[in-house]
Amino acid sequence: MQIKKYQKIITEIYSDIKDVEDLGKVANYIPELGNVSADNFGINITKINNESFGIGNFEGKFSIQSISKILTLTLAYKLEGEKLWQRVDVEPSGNPFNSLQQLESDYGIPRNPFINSGAIVVCDVLISHLQNPKEEFLNFCRELSNNFTLNYSEKVATSEKNTGFRNVALCNFIKSFKNIKNNVDEVLDFYFHICSLEMSCKELSEIFLYLADDKFRTHKENSVLTESQAKRINAIMLTCGFYDESGEFAFRVGLPGKSGVGGGIVAIHPDEFCIAVWSPKLNKKGNSYKGMLFLENFTTKTACSIF
Ligand code: GLU
Repeated sequence: MQIKKYQKIITEIYSDIKDVEDLGKVANYIPELGNVSADNFGINITKINNESFGIGNFEGKFSIQSISKILTLTLAYKLEGEKLWQRVDVEPSGNPFNSLQQLESDYGIPRNPFINSGAIVVCDVLISHLQNPKEEFLNFCRELSNNFTLNYSEKVATSEKNTGFRNVALCNFIKSFKNIKNNVDEVLDFYFHICSLEMSCKELSEIFLYLADDKFRTHKENSVLTESQAKRINAIMLTCGFYDESGEFAFRVGLPGKSGVGGGIVAIHPDEFCIAVWSPKLNKKGNSYKGMLFLENFTTKTACSIF
């Protein structure tokens, strides 16, 4: 579909939804996230030919939180290969993102890389491969998007470090099963930093083009992932990208995607585009209320889902 057509449909849905009552709540269990204005609403689509359209606050940077778990997974998969799946599974958890419950019966193997326990194990894998994990991971993201302004928010990372008791528990619990190899404090510090990455909708819709575009991967000197690896990451996004609401997102929207508690959502249409939405108020499952609503309308009106 031509960018002009997307532009028309996105503009229509944006004005329909902008003033709809938002039934969500801004996350404040990480205190710093609670300081963001709840009215922010932005959308950006980037096609694989790089044509792009944004509306609302599409250039405002926000805390991408769990969306960064796609990037850590990508780098860990690239470095560790198929061995990665011995440390983390690829099944939907059907449980909240920060749950400890299943780890006991699963002997410390997290259900998937997008819940907190899985992302913490992925961070541990990266620490085993990298000398300066925080710096090297940031450089990976900057090079991937050709955007050297990307950065962590020390404020958000510190805020989470001071309050992230469940993540501390998860990391220690997994270590008791020997599925964390490095020092727990180092793993958590890295995890809190990757969650604090800040990006705008425009930047998000650009950085994830490698999951939409086969050519993007083959054109790059050091291709990011093979076609099969990209397919697998898209599959995990479709089945596990929205906590215990992943089925609902596939049902209503029909695209691989990932949300974060900062109110961002990215969704991929393989061979077509990447779209990002930001609206900070979250529904009860931790996904952006208006973000979900927007994307549901978007795939309905464009008939652009993968199904
Ligand atoms: N840093 C957040 C946490 O660990 C990430 C949660 C999310 O976005 O799903 O609680």
